[in-house]
Amino acid sequence: AKEAGRNTLRFFLPSMRKFSEDQLHIQNDLRQALERGELQILWQPKHDFSGNTLGAEALLRWKHPTRGLIMPSEFIPVAEDIGIITSLGNQVLEVSCKLLRKLADEYTEAGPIHLSVNISPQQFQQADFSMQVAHYLKESGANPSRLTLELTENMLVTNLDEVMAKMVDLKRLGVRFSIDDFGTGYSSLAYLKRLPLDEIKIDRSFVNDIIKDPETVSIVEAIITMASKLGLSVVAEGVENSREFDFLRKRGCHCFQGYMLCQPMTDDQFLEFISEGNIN
Ligand code: C2E
Ligand code: CA
Ligand code: CA
Ligand code: CA
Repeated sequence: AKEAGRNTLRFFLPSMRKFSEDQLHIQNDLRQALERGELQILWQPKHDFSGNTLGAEALLRWKHPTRGLIMPSEFIPVAEDIGIITSLGNQVLEVSCKLLRKLADEYTEAGPIHLSVNISPQQFQQADFSMQVAHYLKESGANPSRLTLELTENMLVTNLDEVMAKMVDLKRLGVRFSIDDFGTGYSSLAYLKRLPLDEIKIDRSFVNDIIKDPETVSIVEAIITMASKLGLSVVAEGVENSREFDFLRKRGCHCFQGYMLCQPMTDDQFLEFISEGNIN
């Protein structure tokens, strides 16, 4: 076993070193990316069952000068590791508030458009997070009820009292709360009743399985029923085809997001999309 261990070590070391060099490069590049303006926000529209645009979710992209387009699954964890996720996430909030104001001022025919922003655990845990949100809302003049903060289950279950106090603070400002990737985190449902939530997002993995897996059908039906009894709106994410769409629509899902309806788009594209009306 000792022999094997040593062999394994010798075998793994070079690639590990390569990996960490790569990581270092990415870390340094990411620190500079913010200042160089290489990070971009794309907007993925959300629709009701008849195709009217209800809002959009802000999704980050990194246009790296040599590596090309880098997706958030690769750089968000790095941003968390090096402690810049809070300033990064706050910038997304600030931009979203400004866009909300612009939509309310210049795109009134489109009806009320909401924007959703992903909040990372580190960012949410900052002592001044509520103050930051209040600041961006005030500075932009955005309507707080058009701003949805997407949180994940796992960040709600530790220190429930602390989380609760913070959410109540933010709720006083008038913002909405959504639980992202619902069903994939800790399955404690007690917090659903206690926390001031407005919406849950059915995780993409459930949506994509409803066609092939009867157990997933039951789970999704249960989620929708429970949500509507608790007065929460239900968003389905990752809707890729009309079978998924029809299934969810028939069972009372309110809002749909996914490649079947729209890919994430730039702010110019989104504004043009909004002014053209809905997707029908
Ligand atoms: P998420 O919040 O669950 O976002 C939905 C992801 O699903 C996005 O991936 C979106 O592009 C993708 N998607 C949308 N429709 C479909 C579909 O029909 N099929 C499939 N296969 N995928 C679809 P993206 O943009 O790569 O983002 C990945 C994750 O990165 C997000 O997952 C979110 O957790 C995180 N993220 C993105 N932007 C931010 C940000 O500004 N702050 C934080 N903290 N996290 C972010
Ligand atoms: Ca999300
Ligand atoms: Ca999600
Ligand atoms: Ca996610």
